[in-house]
Amino acid sequence: MNESLAIGIDIGGTRIKAALVDMEGGISDEINEPSLVNNDYSEFLNQLVNLVSTYNHSVNQKLCQVLTPDTTPLLGVGLAVAGLMDEHQKTVIDSPNCTAIIDKPLAGDLNKRISIRTVMDNDASAMAIGEGLCGAARGSRHYIALTLGTGIGGAVISDGRLIRGVDGGGGELGHIPIDRRGPRCGCGSRGCIEAYLGRAGIRRYINRNLPQFKGIGMKALSETAHNGDETARSLFAYIGKTLGIAVAGLVDIFNPELVIIGGGISASAELIIEPLKEEVHKRAFKSYLKSLDIRPAKLGNWAGVIGAAAMLRKNVVML
Ligand SMILES: [Zn+2]
Repeated sequence: MNESLAIGIDIGGTRIKAALVDMEGGISDEINEPSLVNNDYSEFLNQLVNLVSTYNHSVNQKLCQVLTPDTTPLLGVGLAVAGLMDEHQKTVIDSPNCTAIIDKPLAGDLNKRISIRTVMDNDASAMAIGEGLCGAARGSRHYIALTLGTGIGGAVISDGRLIRGVDGGGGELGHIPIDRRGPRCGCGSRGCIEAYLGRAGIRRYINRNLPQFKGIGMKALSETAHNGDETARSLFAYIGKTLGIAVAGLVDIFNPELVIIGGGISASAELIIEPLKEEVHKRAFKSYLKSLDIRPAKLGNWAGVIGAAAMLRKNVVML
């Protein structure tokens, strides 16, 4: 069991989360601390080195053996980063919230410092890989993962392969445009799904259309909706239907057997999934619907960490 432990690290702009992850996606020794990813690069590298050392120490204690590169009980270290990767997943090309690591060979630099296998990928790709290994998409070879939070991330797994495109940036599902005159998006385009359903987009919708909910957090609104408040329910129906427009397009293009919805919104997933399905059923090719399931992601807040660790395992989505 121990030889199959991996370290998963989820690097965000404000928090860094890490854990030891087993084959089944079980986590232990969780760490959740402020991220230094917007400080100096070497300071951030030190933070990662310290995290890995902590885990080396605890794995050693568990096994009562000396860690050397030959006897390491660790599969390695997986990094999930909120940013755009180069085509080899070695360098972060762009990341609005993790500025110190842009254009830096982060995985290689960490590897040099710790002498443990290190892999890196975009956080949404990591989440999709983790969900495929031990979450909602277990056993599936044709699925699409969407993650709704500050922004919208995504990944497409087609015939067991994560689709990356020629430059490695494929799968930016948050930037599917659904309206040529829609609101400006952070990416420079207009009417992207993220411009509607990213955190700022939802806030704007609330301020304009549901002023009584101004300033109320999504968690509280989710509870209100769960308690049967029709207006709060209408907000989640709006989210589901709007997302459904993009998902219908994805279904027609990729003909997946499964679409999973994760991220911060997944606590409210059951409120948005039915309206989402309705929209997809209205729009997508009818013959594709019989093989299609749409459901919430399973791995929750630690999906990035579990996914980062899952990248080190065999027999999962081909990378
Ligand atoms: Zn966009």
